[in-house]
Amino acid sequence: MFQKTTLFTLLLLVAIACTSVPITGRKQLTIFPNSTMQSQSFSAYKEFLNTNKLTTNQQQIDLVKKVGKRIQAAVEQYMAEKNLSSRLSGFQWEFNVVESKDVNAWCMPGGKVVVYTGIIPVCKDEAGLAVVMGHEIAHAIAEHGNERASQQATAQIAMTAGSVAVSQKPTLTNQLILQAAGAVTQLGLLKYSRTHESEADRMGLVFAALAGYNPAEAPKFWERMAAATGGGNVPEYLSTHPSHETRIADLKKWQPEAMEYYNRAKVAN
Ligand SMILES: [Zn+2]
Repeated sequence: MFQKTTLFTLLLLVAIACTSVPITGRKQLTIFPNSTMQSQSFSAYKEFLNTNKLTTNQQQIDLVKKVGKRIQAAVEQYMAEKNLSSRLSGFQWEFNVVESKDVNAWCMPGGKVVVYTGIIPVCKDEAGLAVVMGHEIAHAIAEHGNERASQQATAQIAMTAGSVAVSQKPTLTNQLILQAAGAVTQLGLLKYSRTHESEADRMGLVFAALAGYNPAEAPKFWERMAAATGGGNVPEYLSTHPSHETRIADLKKWQPEAMEYYNRAKVAN
């Protein structure tokens, strides 16, 4: 009996939890309340800041905060215009710079951003930094973490729903859901699918453009990234990332779309 109920719950969740990603319109499944994702993310972020060295380079701190706040404002305005502000509910934006050789940056659910000092020379300037931060913030706006956790949880529930053992352990499903949500907010597991990476590139391009940064800088940044990393992989940009060539070609393809937002932002300012 419980098996059927579990399966029914799962199907119901899938039916009600399908939403569309802003800008790309891709349908996605996110079953967790954002408040759950955010509370996990906020404590993981706090822990990360407590155990890593923040930079004392005031120039870098100022630049990261400046670009972050501009993109934040652009995102908030875009979401308000599209009647999507509810997707930003509970966000507690924060932008920090960590001392590290890693060529890396990320944004956790709820707007918690870290930029590593190692990526700053590759960014070269403010517009380059906007490419990186736009991409990372896009992961959070697209709720890729929630989607990944949801994929894991539904797969696990579907598996356990078919097992007799579940009937003796009715809390197992809940445990699995919490585990899946927790795993995604662990820093080591911030690896997204190629679909997510590509989507973050496209959305990030638009957000940076809306914040007043020229979309033509994005392919240039990725060319520098390819050169800096010898064409190999770098932390956030692990194996699932599109190749540099694919990514640069896509960013050029999406440029006209982003250019419209860029020109609109220029007129508004
Ligand atoms: Zn990414």
